[in-house]
Amino acid sequence: MTLFSNNHQQRWTIVQISDTHLMNQEDLEFVHMNPERSFHAVMHDIQQQYPQLDAIFHTGDLAQIPVAETYQRYLQFMQTLNTPHFQIPGNHDDAAVFPFHLQSNQVHAIELGNWSVILLNTAVKGRIDGWMDAAQLQQLDQLLQQHAQQQVIIACHHHPFDMQSHWIDQHKLKNTEALIDVLARHNNVKLVLCGHVHQDSLNEWQGIQFYSTPSTCVQFKPHSQHFALGPEAPGYRVLHLNADGSFSTQVHRVEHVTQQINFEISGY
Ligand SMILES: [Zn+2]
Ligand SMILES: [Zn+2]
Repeated sequence: MTLFSNNHQQRWTIVQISDTHLMNQEDLEFVHMNPERSFHAVMHDIQQQYPQLDAIFHTGDLAQIPVAETYQRYLQFMQTLNTPHFQIPGNHDDAAVFPFHLQSNQVHAIELGNWSVILLNTAVKGRIDGWMDAAQLQQLDQLLQQHAQQQVIIACHHHPFDMQSHWIDQHKLKNTEALIDVLARHNNVKLVLCGHVHQDSLNEWQGIQFYSTPSTCVQFKPHSQHFALGPEAPGYRVLHLNADGSFSTQVHRVEHVTQQINFEISGY
């Protein structure tokens, strides 16, 4: 399904934000950080640095408190940006109230000229780890076939590959084999974007780049065997996509919003 189409350009700039963990009220804190304030600082930086954005993708854990008012506040803000924006659910979200486009388990493709972004839902109600059901895998296969002439980006919440961090790897996408079986049948997938791990990382499999992206809120300490927060600032990922199939990407950190985080916290 095509949600958005833009065929008049040679270069596209998109931004990935992730893991905003917004509360139901804007003045509440999550692990001693105000997620609303850090989200707005990140969005302010994005607007300053990239005033001509083609789309913004949110890769899940939009809400820490997944109730209607949290999502409405987010959507009201996003609608002021005049930039197409898309979001997929994370384990902390509630698909029943999440601002999805149509059904949450339907696989969507957003076309940006020579590029397409395919949105997956790896979140399963009542679970922290991720899973792609058979219907979604089949839809993905069909969409990759339909977009055979395009460069494809896949976005999902859970990390498909280990982060060398025991606690978070227990919560990864559990049927990565099934996903890469589908990817292996096509040669148009360039990259896979995920959130969930609250850190920047790159893995490569069969020429496909798998990126994770920092949270707009608290960061998890890389390579930690137990739950631990890191000192890095909130951030986001920007991607420049060229018509010839080449791309570049970088993570930006928004240093001035780093607050006094309680690093002694022991749960997620
Ligand atoms: Zn998260
Ligand atoms: Zn998550």
